[in-house]
Amino acid sequence: MKRRVMSRRKLVVAALSIVFAAGVVSAAVCAACQGSGTGSFKCSFCNGTGSKGQFKCSFCNGKGFVKCGSCNGTGQR
Ligand SMILES: [Zn+2]
Ligand SMILES: [Zn+2]
Repeated sequence: MKRRVMSRRKLVVAALSIVFAAGVVSAAVCAACQGSGTGSFKCSFCNGTGSKGQFKCSFCNGKGFVKCGSCNGTGQR
């Protein structure tokens, strides 16, 4: 049981370091969204309000805009 938890933790750390390394190597800001990660179109699900009733819009994550198609919402490419 303890061993399983440890190995899972190790995997997460390894995955995170890979993501971090990749981000440092290719740390170029997306030209399409200037690094904001949001596209130029309003979210059609919440109509640009960023919320759906009293809940945050899950489609755009409360931003009100769809994520940038060039960088897939990361703001980098
Ligand atoms: Zn939305
Ligand atoms: Zn972008």
